[in-house]
Amino acid sequence: SDFLDRESVPMLSVQPKGKQKGCAGCNRKIKDRYLLKALDQYWHEDCLKCACCDCRLGEVGSTLYTKANLILCRRDYLRLFGTTGNCAACSKLIPAFEMVMRARDNVYHLDCFACQLCNQRFCVGDKFFLKNNMILCQMDYEEGQLNGTFDSHVQ
Ligand SMILES: [Zn+2]
Ligand SMILES: [Zn+2]
Ligand SMILES: [Zn+2]
Ligand SMILES: [Zn+2]
Repeated sequence: SDFLDRESVPMLSVQPKGKQKGCAGCNRKIKDRYLLKALDQYWHEDCLKCACCDCRLGEVGSTLYTKANLILCRRDYLRLFGTTGNCAACSKLIPAFEMVMRARDNVYHLDCFACQLCNQRFCVGDKFFLKNNMILCQMDYEEGQLNGTFDSHVQ
């Protein structure tokens, strides 16, 4: 998706040429056979690491991710800044690190997972119904069936 493309940065493994380069991570000169070039800077392979999991980025791929002054591997970038999708109740984006409730193909904020008619929250084991893409408690579902307010063609 495009947010990934905007924040992904290519890494190149190159052989040093000419004058010795300084490492953007540790500021020491790079004397290794290979160095990494990324973000318009040079790095020791050991110095270009994910700020979250400390993995050596040159070993996990050819792309790093950068946002909010952090350099990250793809996994941590998605965990921190990715999204699970839009909440089917409030339609706001849900960050990937948040716990969600799922019903069929829908995802919900935990706080949004309540009967959309009476706002009753559900406990483990409670029955809920999905009708016309609305979450309903058993009472409102059954009342809707009786009153005929639900479109019976859409399930
Ligand atoms: Zn270094
Ligand atoms: Zn990481
Ligand atoms: Zn929501
Ligand atoms: Zn209800």
